[in-house]
Amino acid sequence: MKKLDKQGGHVYMSPDEIESWYRKLEAEHKTHLSPYSVKFPARNSIKALWLIFLRKNKGALVHKDTISSFVASVNPKAGKDQQVRHLASDGWYVLNKGDKYQNKKEVVPSGYHILITTESPKPTFLFKSLKRAGRIAAKDFAQLKVVYGFRCATCGSQEHKPNFLEPGKTTALQQGHMDPHKPLALSNTIPQCQVCNGVYLDDYVFDAKGRVIAVASKNPVLRASKEVREQIKEALH
Ligand SMILES: [Zn+2]
Repeated sequence: MKKLDKQGGHVYMSPDEIESWYRKLEAEHKTHLSPYSVKFPARNSIKALWLIFLRKNKGALVHKDTISSFVASVNPKAGKDQQVRHLASDGWYVLNKGDKYQNKKEVVPSGYHILITTESPKPTFLFKSLKRAGRIAAKDFAQLKVVYGFRCATCGSQEHKPNFLEPGKTTALQQGHMDPHKPLALSNTIPQCQVCNGVYLDDYVFDAKGRVIAVASKNPVLRASKEVREQIKEALH
């Protein structure tokens, strides 16, 4: 892992370079982070300078004094006390002291910060944002599962835990159709456990909460009692 200490890094950037990193960050934020309400710092703010320096050194552990030196080179009036960790509270995927990374094998040492990527928010922030915004904010099935708390929409069984309906089985979440007559787009998908997905087949239409709202084939009707079938027949006449 690359490490940028106070003595180790050449911190100077020309105004043009600073502006070009700012614009790059602005574009990346708009595409990847703005949908999750990650905050974007104002031009020429101290926060913007922290981000610019971390973005230039993305993937490297950067000491806070190195960041302070850079900020001071641009804005000599800036205070010494740089609270770079606040970028993470704003949603940026910046790791601070004690945060784990690289498959939890490494821990960020005291005094250091690291920008992992600008293509997704910090995972804890993403989780909160998805929970708040709901289905509409999910970009893929993995995010949709977050919205549903990693539970089957229909029976509530939790992924990787014993299944509620068949406790001998470990719950696996599958992409279930809401309406089996429509393509399996994300807007038509609910997470369902393998048991529910298997039982309901393509015979039912579900709402976003995983509740059956209509039949999607004649099969459930054919399995109904004689009285119900008579009622349906009459209603359809
Ligand atoms: Zn289920």
